[in-house]
Amino acid sequence: MDLKKFVRDIPDFPVKGIIFRDVTPLLKSPQAFKFAVDEMARILSDVSFDCIVSPEARGFIFGAALAYKLGKGFVPVRKPGKLPYETVSLEYQLEYGTAQLQIHADAIEPGQKVLIVDDVLATGGTAEAIGKLVQKLGGQVAAMCFLIELTYLNPRERLKGYDVRTVLKY
Ligand code: 5GP
Repeated sequence: MDLKKFVRDIPDFPVKGIIFRDVTPLLKSPQAFKFAVDEMARILSDVSFDCIVSPEARGFIFGAALAYKLGKGFVPVRKPGKLPYETVSLEYQLEYGTAQLQIHADAIEPGQKVLIVDDVLATGGTAEAIGKLVQKLGGQVAAMCFLIELTYLNPRERLKGYDVRTVLKY
């Protein structure tokens, strides 16, 4: 299946000069959504891990579907102030300013092997920050998996040392 047919390009979103890859048509199609999650599982068949960690909001969709399919637990990473229990935070650089992500302090056991999942790998900043959060809790990043990689933003430069797997490349 040509999954790219289900990814819509939105020019100048959220700001001028950015082409946003909109995955909502893919999510709406039962065949495309299933195929996308199955493909993620297929390219990860040689990776062993204990749980999946994903950021809000679209990361939850793919991360949770994959966790269910592979019989793993799911750990959410959220923007500040959303998680109810004790959290560990990490601040990271955006193009303009900084952002913060949080994870529950007890979400990962020391030594646990974690798979990080999100919809799109753009600059790699979000994935890098989640990798650091996982390590702060004593977890090990087994691999990172994304439906879409925007290769022209060179995200792998930032993610050196990580096993990065992606289904679609632009
Ligand atoms: P990064 O931190 O790699 O620059 O950006 C990745 C994060 O921003 C992901 O959580 C992803 O959901 C979101 N993101 C960035 N660009 C796009 C895009 O073009 N399409 C979608 N669907 N998400 C994007």
